[in-house]
Amino acid sequence: MIDLRSDTVTQPTDAMRTAMMEAQLGDDVLGDESSVTALERAVAQRLGKEAALFVPSGTMANQLAIRCHCESGDEIVAHGESHIIHYETGAPAALSGCMIRPIDRPRGLFSACDVHAAIRSRDIHSPFSRLLVVENTHNRGGGAVWPLSQFREVCVAAREHQLAVHVDGARLMNACVAAGYSACDFAREADTVSVCFSKGLGAPVGSALVGTSRLIDRARRFRKMLGGGMRQSGFLAAGALYALDHHVERLAQDHARARELASRIAAIGGLTVNPSPAHVESNMVFFDVAESLGDARTLCERVHGLGVRLIPMGPRRVRAVLHLDVPDDVVDRAAKAIAHASRI
Ligand SMILES: *Cc1c(COP(=O)(O)O)cnc(C)c1O
Repeated sequence: MIDLRSDTVTQPTDAMRTAMMEAQLGDDVLGDESSVTALERAVAQRLGKEAALFVPSGTMANQLAIRCHCESGDEIVAHGESHIIHYETGAPAALSGCMIRPIDRPRGLFSACDVHAAIRSRDIHSPFSRLLVVENTHNRGGGAVWPLSQFREVCVAAREHQLAVHVDGARLMNACVAAGYSACDFAREADTVSVCFSKGLGAPVGSALVGTSRLIDRARRFRKMLGGGMRQSGFLAAGALYALDHHVERLAQDHARARELASRIAAIGGLTVNPSPAHVESNMVFFDVAESLGDARTLCERVHGLGVRLIPMGPRRVRAVLHLDVPDDVVDRAAKAIAHASRI
């Protein structure tokens, strides 16, 4: 079985398991977990920020950032297809009392003009526009990669209106490898950045939030409040550190395979790769299913029967995600299964 539902499905490699089992352990809530501290230092350094906090999930990292930047009644400006809108269970409203002003543009990207238009005037009637959130790569945007210059422009627009900037960088390393900028270059423009180790990097659990020491101290308090204080979490941190050290450059292989798979799918009747193969920039391929082939769920079931798992992302939309835990002939096998399932 080849599982392309998500890059979260990866099992730790033998070398990663060894690194995890050999980790020095302490108690992170008591402040002496040396493996967690080592990971936090490495992540902060890699992103060029003062401090980092290891957390159980990307959702927690994003929500801690929102909780630190915003007050109840504030408004967040973000793309309408953002993870924080679709997949975080309403947490910005539930945990921080915030609403989100969505920007709707293709592929999860937008311009400085869009930011200016979304920010409200400081008026007694209006919510306070407080935070801009940029997702890179953009999941529902087809794994789109933010160009550095465009990101800088939207940050300048946000700063003009005193907004803070948070990057949902669950797949920031994919963006760095695809675009050729460093994580530091990208993070420099932002106040906070979240990164996931449990996506394409292949670690079993964990994300980090980076920012100033002052902000991370507050985030550490909120993490405890939300029940995210962990004890011998050095096991998990060691897996994450191994992933950072060994699994970043290889993301280029996932991207190349995604491009190849996209062009194979584009050649199948009734399927439309969207964004188009030319816009497949990282490890994701989205395609739309023609009505004559049934809905996305049914197609995924037929493909599953042929040994390949994909995930429906809408009534007609299917997603395939490349990652490190696939066989060498993944593209050929997946493309053949999808073609066979589409021949009805
Ligand atoms: C996966 C993901 C997250 C974090 O999700 P968790 O399941 O909470 O780890 C955040 N942002 C994006 C864009 C993601 O794809």
